[in-house]
Amino acid sequence: MLVSALFADISKEFDFLHSASFSFKNNIPYIRVHVKSYENGTKIENIRSFECGNSEINAKSLIFSVSNFTPAVVKYRIAFQELAQNELKSHAEKSKLWSIKTGMETEIFVHGAIFSINKSTIDNREYFIVSKELFEKSKAEELLNKFRELFPDYSIVSIPVHESNAGSVINVKTDDGKNYKCQNLILIHPKPGFMTGEDSYSDGRNYFLTPTEKGRGELVIEDSVENILHRILPGEMFLSAPLETLKAQAVAARTDIFMQLGKRHVSEIWHICSEVHCQKVIWDGKIDSKFVQAVKETEGQVLLFNGTHVARAPYCSSSGGRTEDIRNVWFTAEKPYLTGVWDGDEPLQLDLSKEADLQKFLASDYGEDNLKMNKRHRWKVEFPQEKIDELLKSRKNIGKLKEIRSLQRGVSGRIYKAEFVGTLSSLVVYGELNIRRLLDNLYSSAFLAHKDGDIWIFEGMGWGHGVGMSQMGAISLGKKGRDFSFILKRYYPKTDIIKIY
Ligand SMILES: [Zn+2]
Repeated sequence: MLVSALFADISKEFDFLHSASFSFKNNIPYIRVHVKSYENGTKIENIRSFECGNSEINAKSLIFSVSNFTPAVVKYRIAFQELAQNELKSHAEKSKLWSIKTGMETEIFVHGAIFSINKSTIDNREYFIVSKELFEKSKAEELLNKFRELFPDYSIVSIPVHESNAGSVINVKTDDGKNYKCQNLILIHPKPGFMTGEDSYSDGRNYFLTPTEKGRGELVIEDSVENILHRILPGEMFLSAPLETLKAQAVAARTDIFMQLGKRHVSEIWHICSEVHCQKVIWDGKIDSKFVQAVKETEGQVLLFNGTHVARAPYCSSSGGRTEDIRNVWFTAEKPYLTGVWDGDEPLQLDLSKEADLQKFLASDYGEDNLKMNKRHRWKVEFPQEKIDELLKSRKNIGKLKEIRSLQRGVSGRIYKAEFVGTLSSLVVYGELNIRRLLDNLYSSAFLAHKDGDIWIFEGMGWGHGVGMSQMGAISLGKKGRDFSFILKRYYPKTDIIKIY
């Protein structure tokens, strides 16, 4: 049931909108997505009416301004380590260990929830060892920096905890000159052309306008997960990709939405934003029917692990022929369905964490992502000595680079701990992304480097972190006539594709 039909007075249901709960219509979940921000005083056009408190007011356009704004109170726990399911038994010992290491009291924290969706139950909980104490934002940031420095091989993050809602008055002036004062939010009923210029997109959706800091108004749409997916797919995959590849991408993107529910944007009334932080949503323009078909043919299907656990479903452009263990990339807990796989029908007897084997592999054309269109399946990048010294200097002045040591490589050959040895000192860098960034956003950290005269030569494979689905590999499998479930099983082994609605 839609919120407008459910609630007599929308402002009283502000609390509901702050929860991870969502509504249903025709058995399909409707979630709230942040669309865009309006500056204080913006005129909003192409509307039919709006709801303020318990009354619905007809208007063609409105101008809003915000007063009496009090921000939401959010505090943060510092999370030191994610625990895998099989580590939960020993959480007390792990917590004790972190207390000793950090000098802070720590405990286990459950992030996420169990959701009922029609007759299915899905569980997106993850478990962390966290600080018992809650911190203000600035203090949390300071602690994050400190502990990330101290424990570079752990994924140390802050987990927001919502303490109280924001509050405000929205002053609305309609096109016929009348003024209204509304508490916390208004509900907008749009007319065709309201947002995307596409007529159909204004029908049957709810739009909320709610203020945030600096008096801005945040436009939030409540729409079905399926409709949102139509607008996520074009940002994630080429239209020219085979339909089965697009279907695999649709399931991965849908899984990601349910993975994030209730964990992101906890102090706001939207479940997800439309930026890369959650998933990029393209609001403008008409969506090609092929994207709509890919979503329709996989309606309600998500990747679950162990029956009810929503999987994490990361993807990257190209793995280079071998994907990586999640733990080696983000220092998270181990996920049995996100361990490195050979991206070919015949697994190889090579250990890519060993340089000799990696060298053989780099010389081969193995891998589903070995497509003509993929310029990053194998690659070569050169840096003059001066250039690389300058890049490294942004982190530390080690003098002239003499040697690059790969201290730890994952199963795909991606380096996640590297030492750069210079004439003055050396620098150890953790994390494949940090290594790539330092090297001028190198395509991946699955490389071998050597020096030829005054030039450093990097030869490597793939583009991106290498965890989960390789999009180029998925295109290749689609072209070979493999269906979407084959593609998903390749990259997320041990998960099941389950239709939850
Ligand atoms: Zn977000």
